[in-house]
Amino acid sequence: MSTRKKVHAFVRVRPTDDFAHEVIRYGDDNKSIDIHLKKDTRRGVVNNQQTDWSFKLDGVLHDASQDLVYETVAKDVISQALDGYNGTIMCYGQTGAGKTYTMTGATENYKHRGILPRALQQVFRMIEERPTHAITVRVSYLEIYNESLFDLLSTLPYVGPSVTPMTIVENPQGVFIKGLSVHLTSQEEDAFSLLFEGETNRIIASHTMNKNSSRSHCIFTIYVEAHSRTLSDEKYITSKINLVDLAGSERLGKSGLSSLRFASRMKLVTTEPAINEKYDAERMVKNLEKELVLLKQELAIHDSLANRSLVNYDPMDEIQIAEINSQVRRYLEGTLDEIDIINLRQIQEVFNQFRVVLSQQEQEVECALRRKYTFIDKNDFAAISAVQKAGLMDVDGHLVGEPDGQGFGLGVAPFSAKPGKKAKSKKTFKDQLSSSARKEGASSPVGGKDLDVSISKTQLTPSSKDGDVKDMLLRDRETSNIEPPSSDSPKEELRPPRPSTPPSKPVAFEDFKNERGSEINRIFKENKSILNERRKRASETTQRINAIKREIDMTKEALNFQKSLREKQGEYENQGLMIIDEEEFLLILKLKDLKKQYRTEYQDLRDLRAEIQYCQHLVDQCRHRLLTEFDIWYNESFFIPEDMQVALKPGSSIRPGMIPVSRIMSLGEDDQDKFSQLQQTMLPEGPDSISFYNAKVKTEQKHKYLKTMMGLQQTQRK
Ligand code: ADP
Ligand code: MG
Repeated sequence: MSTRKKVHAFVRVRPTDDFAHEVIRYGDDNKSIDIHLKKDTRRGVVNNQQTDWSFKLDGVLHDASQDLVYETVAKDVISQALDGYNGTIMCYGQTGAGKTYTMTGATENYKHRGILPRALQQVFRMIEERPTHAITVRVSYLEIYNESLFDLLSTLPYVGPSVTPMTIVENPQGVFIKGLSVHLTSQEEDAFSLLFEGETNRIIASHTMNKNSSRSHCIFTIYVEAHSRTLSDEKYITSKINLVDLAGSERLGKSGLSSLRFASRMKLVTTEPAINEKYDAERMVKNLEKELVLLKQELAIHDSLANRSLVNYDPMDEIQIAEINSQVRRYLEGTLDEIDIINLRQIQEVFNQFRVVLSQQEQEVECALRRKYTFIDKNDFAAISAVQKAGLMDVDGHLVGEPDGQGFGLGVAPFSAKPGKKAKSKKTFKDQLSSSARKEGASSPVGGKDLDVSISKTQLTPSSKDGDVKDMLLRDRETSNIEPPSSDSPKEELRPPRPSTPPSKPVAFEDFKNERGSEINRIFKENKSILNERRKRASETTQRINAIKREIDMTKEALNFQKSLREKQGEYENQGLMIIDEEEFLLILKLKDLKKQYRTEYQDLRDLRAEIQYCQHLVDQCRHRLLTEFDIWYNESFFIPEDMQVALKPGSSIRPGMIPVSRIMSLGEDDQDKFSQLQQTMLPEGPDSISFYNAKVKTEQKHKYLKTMMGLQQTQRK
C-alpha cells in the first residue's frame, strides 16, 4: 500500500436555531462551502475588502447524527488499523463548536456517544470476527496543557516500564511518550472504563488545577497488535489509532472564520500509509527449524525415489573430507576415473579439495625448483647485474643456454653453452673439433629446442650418449624392421669427398634424414602418425562413452519416474507377476541396450589405450634410433679419419662412429706414428708385407678401440 493518500477533511456544523443562510452556502456535491460577507459600508465606497471565500472539503456534515459522523469519518480508519495501518482522527475548531461532543460525546447518553467509544466497540467487534488472530488492545490517554504532559490514566494501577516524568521521544519508529501508562484491555467494557476514568480525571484536573479545559489537547490512543494463530508466521502487525481532541482555535476575529482554512490546508497534506510489520525472532527461529526438518524429510523422499542409498546431508566431518581429498588426488593421478556426485555439499567439498591439492602441488613444485635453482627477482636489478657479471646470463637477460629467454632461472648450463662462447661465435673448425673432443663424445644433432620441427619438443629424448651403444645394439635385434644402414652399402663407397668444414648439426640432420637416415625417418613418421590416429580415436571413443553415460543417466531417471508413478497409482499384479506399462518396458529395453553399448565402447577404449602405449614406445624408440644413427653418421662423415674407419671395418659389429671421437683422436697420434714407422721399416721386406703389417696394426687398433669402449661403458655404469 505505497500509494499516496491525502488527509481527509470534513466539516461538522452543529445544529443551531438561526443558521446564517445568507453567509454560508454548501456546494451541491456537499463537498464545498462558500462564504459570502456583506461589504462593510463603514470603510467607504472604495473598498478592496474580500467578501467571498470558497473551501473544498471531503464532506460537510450538517446536523449530522453521531452515528453518521462515525460512519463517515472514523469507521474505515479503525478497520484499517486492524490490518496494520496507523490512523489519526483530529477535531479542530472553536471552543463550544462541538469537538469534545464529536470525539467523546455525551458520556451519560449511549445514543450520543462519540467517536472514542464507538471506535473501541468496533475494534472489539472486529477481534471477535477474526478468530484466526491473537489480537491485543492497549490504550493510553494523554492531555497536553500549557506544554505540560498529563497522564489521564495515571490513577489506575499500572505496572509499566517507567515511573519517570513523561518526555516526548522521537526515534525511527516514530514519536512516543516515554513514561505514559499504556493499559491492556481484554474486553470492550474494560476499555470503556478506561475511557471514563480518563474523562473523569480530565474534569477533576481542570477544577483542581484551575485549568481552562478548552485550552488543552487530549489524545486517546488505541494500540493494536495482531499475531496469526493459524500460520506459525513470525510476522506480526502493530498499529496505533490516535483520537485527538484539540484545544479551541480561539480569537476568530484575528484569524478570520480559520477552521475552514485549516481544514482545506490539511487536505493538501499527503501521507503514505504502510503496514507496520514486525518480526517475532523466537517464532522465526522455530519456523526455520521446522522448515529445515521438513526439507530434510523431502530430500530423503527424493533420494529413495531416485534409488539412492541413504545420503547424508549434514556437514562433513574430518574423515569424510579426508576421503574426498584422497579421491581428488587419485583422480588427478589417473587411478580414479570419476568422482561420483552425491550432493551439493559434497560437490563443494570436491572443489575445495581440488584447490587444496593444487596449492600443495604448487608449493611442492616451487620447493623442488628452489632445491635445484636459485631464483632471481626480475625486478631486482642488483642481483641481475651480479649474475650478468658472473657470466651466467647474457646482457639481454637471457639465461645462458636458454634460446627463447622466457623468464629467469639459474641451473646447470649445457656444456656447449659455456659462458663466453657467444662472444666468440666465429670459431674455427679446429676449435670446434677440439671442443667436441673435450666433451668426450659428440652431442646429438642439436641441443634440445633447435631440433627439427617434425620432432615434438616435449618428446625429445636425450642425445646419444656413449652408454647407449650397447642398448642400441640390443634394439637392433628387437626391431628388426629398422635395418641399420649397412656400413658397406654402395652409397658409402660413392661417398662424396669430405668437406673441409663440417656442416652444422641441424643442416647435417636434414641431409641425414633425406639420405642415409631416410628409412628410419620414414618409419619414425609412420609410427608417429599411427600414434596420433590412435589418440584421436581414443578421444572420440571417450566422448561417445560420455554421451552414452549421460543417456544412461537420463533413461534411469525416466525409469525411476515411471516406477514412482506406478507405485503411486497402485500396482497391478497378475499371478504374482508385476504388470508394467509399455513406456516403462521400452525404457528398460533402452537402458539394457545402452549398457551394452557402454561396455563395448569401454572395451574399445581399453584396447586403444594399450595400442597407444605400444605406439608411443615405438615412436620413442625410432626417435632414439634416428638420433643415434645420425650421431654415428655425423662422426663418421666429418670427424673420424677415413683410414681408421677402413681399419675398423672388417667383420666388426661396432661401427667407428659409435666410438667417441675423442678416443679415436687420442688413439690416433701414437698409433699413426707407429704405423708410419712400421711402414717405413718393413717396406724392404716386399710389398706383400704391407698388407701383413696393415692387418696387424688394424687389429691392434681395433682391440684398443674395443678396450676403450668397454672402459667407457664401465665408467658410465658407475
Ligand atoms: P468544544 O469541545 O468544541 O469546546 P463541546 O463539544 O464541549 O465543544 O460542545 C459544547 C456544547 O455543545 C456541549 O454542551 C455539547 O453537548 C453541545 N453540542 C456540540 N455539538 C453538538 C451537536 N452536534 N449536537 C448536539 N449538541 C451539541
Ligand atoms: Mg471540548
